[in-house]
This record gives sequence, structure tokens and C-alpha cells, in this order.
Amino acid sequence: MADRQFATLTAHEARTLLDNREVSSVELTEASLERIDQVEDHVGAFVTVTRDLALGQAEQADQRIARGDAAPLTGIPMQLKDVICTEGVRTTCSSRMLENFVPPYNATVTDRLYSEGAVLVGKGNMDEFAMGSSTENSAFFPTHNPWDLDRVPGGSSGGPAAAVAASECFYSLGSDTGGSIRQPGALCGVVGMKPTYGLVSRYGLVAFASSLDQIGPLTRDVRDCATVLNAVAGHDPRDSTSIVYDPPDYTKSLQTDLKGLRIGVPKEYFVEGMEPGVEQATRDAIKVIESLGAEIGEVSLPHTPYALAVYYIIAPSECSANLARYDGVKYGFSAKEADSMWDALEKTRQDGFGPEVKRRIMLGTYALSSGYYDAFYLKAQRVRTLIRREFEEVFSEFDALVTATSPSIAFKLGAKTADPMQMYLNDVLTLPANIAGIPGISVPAGLSDGLPVGFQVLGKPLGEETMLRVAYAFEQATNFRSTHGDPPL
Ligand code: GLN
Repeated sequence: MADRQFATLTAHEARTLLDNREVSSVELTEASLERIDQVEDHVGAFVTVTRDLALGQAEQADQRIARGDAAPLTGIPMQLKDVICTEGVRTTCSSRMLENFVPPYNATVTDRLYSEGAVLVGKGNMDEFAMGSSTENSAFFPTHNPWDLDRVPGGSSGGPAAAVAASECFYSLGSDTGGSIRQPGALCGVVGMKPTYGLVSRYGLVAFASSLDQIGPLTRDVRDCATVLNAVAGHDPRDSTSIVYDPPDYTKSLQTDLKGLRIGVPKEYFVEGMEPGVEQATRDAIKVIESLGAEIGEVSLPHTPYALAVYYIIAPSECSANLARYDGVKYGFSAKEADSMWDALEKTRQDGFGPEVKRRIMLGTYALSSGYYDAFYLKAQRVRTLIRREFEEVFSEFDALVTATSPSIAFKLGAKTADPMQMYLNDVLTLPANIAGIPGISVPAGLSDGLPVGFQVLGKPLGEETMLRVAYAFEQATNFRSTHGDPPL
């Protein structure tokens, strides 16, 4: 089907066709919108489809291409996770609280993509306020994995990962606080990357846990990941945690050999409970890395087993503070029937937030409360420092680390909803990178039981170039896309 053919291209393949005038941006956008019409009832990757906006942006992109001043992403249809503010387009965080919230401004990443001439086809479904690992916590509907519709796409950026896998858009931006880009990327067979904390502006990203949140790309291949990172990375005076740094052209770091690199394999990342198919795919991937010329060495990160506990103190603590702003006065949902201000506040939060968000707010409030602060929050911050130092030490000897992205392949919808601990355990391999602020990328590493497995590369702070080089060389040597194609949908 012609639409599917266009829609399944990578962004860089689409770029070539656009520049050669073999396709127009309007045609690409129509192809994406038709795919959305065909599959969205089954996948559920979009909270909002911005058809008219997209077609208008596509027409402008075609004019820009005709003038000969196209940027790498001009005219290419994309999605943004619904936690990223878009002026005039509702931004819900998949929460009843923000169901009708239309931001009066764009996030910096939205502005940067728009100024490249990108085309927004819609907003991606997610776990409510990015809390979850399966997208089942969306207040609206769950997203289904395009490889098997009975299974979850991962989360919390499940909409973005599924939309890219199902060819509903060419790329998407997600947010990653503890793995929310990389884990759904792994489960849906696409590339997902979390940059170094501070490399991409968080201005206009609705906050979950401010010291951990980072925006990053979900793409069909590593070249597209580098291209999208080029567009969004760089200092932003509107985000006080943004690094003053002039990013390189990340596409220049894509090389097919790994000679001269030392790559560490942290032994603690072969966790108890890892599925045998995931372990096998990871060990095979490490052999590929070695065959490309890298020197492999086993390393130890002994505090890894504490990372999950540290994360589930720090993230809920920050969340409890950030989500205090939803009081029914300033933003979004507001309970109407109330006897007093306090009653209105209570009812707004009772009806506006879903169960997982409430659980996090309660956990965080508890950990920050007087008498418990030292025992929980302060202790967690201390262990965070130990985890960060441990990475620093390992990175003084190694250029990158490689691990599995998620201990399991995509699980069945409903399989873990009754047991939050089981759900939290899914993040054990991804959240240390957020705790330490280092970059991480997940690349498809084959199938296990017919479902994608992700391979994770972790880099030094601002070590995106080396990390992308490793991911690219691995991808080119294994070529998931030409071996396994797109999901059968
Ligand atoms: N799954 C983790 C959580 O529920 C991570 C979420 C994220 O990265 N946004 O907190």
C-alpha cells in the first residue's frame, strides 16, 4: 500500500525524497494521517490528532522546500508526547486534571522543531503525568503494542513508541524520568534516547520529577535519533538547569566500526528475573560490539541494587511538590460542587488524579514529612551521590556501557496493574541513568518470542557522540529493520 510505504520511511529517507521532489510534505502528511485513520482504533497512540494544523504546516514546508532552504526535518510529520506544551493544542498529560488544558505557549522543543519546519500530526498518549511503565495509567485509554495488540507498548511514552512503530508518524519526542523513552522504545522495536540531564530544555515540559526529567527522541533508526537531537539540543536561558554548551552535529559521530573504544558490561545489570530471551539477545549483542573492534570488559556498579529504592523516594518526592500546583484554581479541572475552598481543593484532586498519581503524591509527601525526611529523602539523596560517583569511576576507564534496556519483553495488558512493585521492577535497568544524569539509548536487538528486545548503551555526561556511535555501529551490523521489518499491522 503506497501510504504505508511512505509512512514507513525513516525521516532521512523521507528527506531525500522531499529534496528530490519525489514526494511533497503534504503527501507525506496525508500518508501519516491515513495510517492514523487505519490503525489508531487498534493502537491508541494519540490523545489528539492535529489534522488541520498538520496540513497547514505541510503546505508551508513545501513552500520552504521550493525556496531551497529546507532544514533536516522540514516537512516531516511527527508527534509530541502529551506532556510537551503546544500553544493552541491541548496538552493533557493523559490526565482528567488537564483534559481541556490548552497551553498559551510552546515548549522550547516545540518551538525548535517548528522553526525547522516540522509537521505536528498529534499528541502522544502516555501514563498519567508520565507515571508508569505500560501506558495503562492513561486516564483516557491504554495504548496497544503494534507487534501484538494484546500487549503493552511500555511506558510512560507508550503512545510515542507505538506511533513510530506503527508508522503513524516518522518520529516523536518523549520524556524520560526513569526510563520512559528507552523502555517503550525497547518494547516497540524502535530507537529511544534519553540525553544527558540538561542537554535538552525542559521549558514547557510538564514537570514530574524535575531533577530527573529529560526530553528525547523516539525514531526508526539511530541516524534519525541524531538528527532529531541536533534539532532540540542546546542551551535555553528559560530552563535554569539547561547546560551552557554548544552541541556538536551528532550525525557526524555515526561510524560503523568501534576500534579504539573500551566498552564496559556492568555485571549487576543481568538482574534476577531477567527473561532468558532478553539475556540471550543481550549477550549476543555484546559479541557483535566486540566483533566491531571494541574492547569489552566486565565492570561492577555495586550500588545498582539500591537505585530502584532511591528513584522511588526521589521521584515521588519531587512529584508531590510539582503536582501541588493542580488546585483547581490555576490550571485545568476544577470540582464545581463544594462547600468551601478546602472542600473544592480536595474534590478537585480526588476526581482529577488517577490512582497511580495519588499513590506517588502520598509516597512523596510521606518521604518529605518532618521526622521522615532524614530517614528517606536525605538518605536517598546520599545514595544518589554514591551511584553517580560509581558511574564516574567506571567512565574513567570505559567510553560507554552496554546492558539490556528492560528485563522483559512486552507483557500482556493487565498483567501487572494489580501489583505496583512488579511494574516498578520494570525500570531497574533504565533508572540509574536518570539518577546519575547520564545519557542512554535503546536500540532494537532482535526478537524474543516474536517481540522486540532492546539493547541499551549508556554514555558519559555529554558523551552522546560516543554513545550514538556505538548504537549506530550495532544497528548497521545487525539491521533490525531489514531483518524483521515493521510490525504486522
Ligand atoms: N516507570 C517509571 C515511573 O513510573 C519511569 C517513568 C518515566 O520515566 N517518566 O516513574
